[in-house]
Amino acid sequence: MKRRAQRRGEFDLIAKYFAPLARGETGALGLTDDAAYLSPAAGRDVVVTTDAIVEGVHFLPGDPPAAIAQKALRVNISDLAAKGAKPRAYMLTAILPSMIDDDWLAAFASGLKQDQKRFGLTLIGGDTVSTRGPLTLSITAIGEVACGRMVKRSGAQVGDDVWVSGSIGDAGLGLIQSTPQKLSLPTVHTSYLISRYQVPQPRLTLGLALVGLAHACIDVSDGLVADLGHICTASGVSILVNGADIPLSRAAAAALAAGEISLESLLTSGDDYELAFTAPASARTRLTGIAATLKIKIARIGRAGGGEGVSVLDDDSKPLHFDRRGFTHF
Ligand code: ADP
Ligand code: MG
Repeated sequence: MKRRAQRRGEFDLIAKYFAPLARGETGALGLTDDAAYLSPAAGRDVVVTTDAIVEGVHFLPGDPPAAIAQKALRVNISDLAAKGAKPRAYMLTAILPSMIDDDWLAAFASGLKQDQKRFGLTLIGGDTVSTRGPLTLSITAIGEVACGRMVKRSGAQVGDDVWVSGSIGDAGLGLIQSTPQKLSLPTVHTSYLISRYQVPQPRLTLGLALVGLAHACIDVSDGLVADLGHICTASGVSILVNGADIPLSRAAAAALAAGEISLESLLTSGDDYELAFTAPASARTRLTGIAATLKIKIARIGRAGGGEGVSVLDDDSKPLHFDRRGFTHF
C-alpha cells in the first residue's frame, strides 16, 4: 500500500511539497512563520481575490492532480486577469481526504510549479488540514495594478460595445463529455472539450492590456448570460447580445449543428474563464490590434444600452429564452 502523506505529519508535508514553491518571494519566509508579508511596488494597488474548488462540484474524482492544481490556481488568475492585475503571490488552503498520497501530492505540486512559472506568481502561505469530506482547495491570489486602475464590473456605459474572448460553452460541454451521459461527438472534439473543462486558460495577457481601455470587465465563470448580467447590475446598464456573433469552438459549433446541445445551454454553462468586457466604439481598432498581437481571439457580441438585464437575439432577431441564466450554488 502506498504510504499516506499525512502520516508524516502536516509540517513534513508542507516542507516537502509546498516550501519549494515559496522560493523567490522573500516575505514568504520559506513557509516557516505564522504569516507572510508583501510590499507592493510604489504606485501600485494590491488586488486580492479568492476562489475554492471542491471535488464533485468543480472537478471530478480521479481528475489528474496536476490539472486539479492548475484549475485551482487558474480560476483565481482569471479573476486577477479580469481586473487587469498582474499576479504576484497566492495562499493555498488544502483540505485533504486521507487517501491523498505522496504520488498525488508530488503531481499536484508540480502542476502548481509549472503555473507559477507560466503566470509569474509565488506561493506565500496557506493551511493544510485533513477531512472525511471531499478534496477542497481554496486559493487566495494577490496581484498588483496601477493605483486606482483596477477594471471594475461597474464601469460599463450606455453605448459601449460588448466583447468576449476565446469561445463560449466549451467547458460546460467538457463536463457533459466527462460523464456517462455524454453526447455523441467525434473523439477529437470530446478531448478538446474535456481539456477546456479540466484546465482553464486564463486570459491574463489580454486582461493586463485592457487596463485603461475597457470600461468594465468580468471573467466568465458562471455562464456568459449570468456574468454579463453582473456587469449590467453593477453598471446600471442593459446588454443586448447578437446570438450569431457569439464565438463558438469547432467542437461546440459541431454539437450545436448536430442538435446535441442548445445555444441557450452553451450561454448559461459555467467554467469558460473567458473575459467579457465593455469598451467604447472608439477603442475597436486598438482592441483588435491587441488581440492580434496577443494571438487571443476577441469577438464583438453586442452593445450596452439603457434599462437593465441581458437579452440575446437569435438569427431571426427573436429573443432567446433562458430557464436559468447560469450556474449558482444555492
Ligand atoms: P499556524 O498554525 O501558525 O497557522 P500552520 O501550521 O498552519 O501555521 O502553517 C505553518 C506554515 O506553513 C505557515 O507559514 C503557513 O502559511 C504554511 N502553510 C501551511 N499549509 C500550507 C499550504 N497548503 N500551502 C502553503 N503554505 C502552507
Ligand atoms: Mg494554520
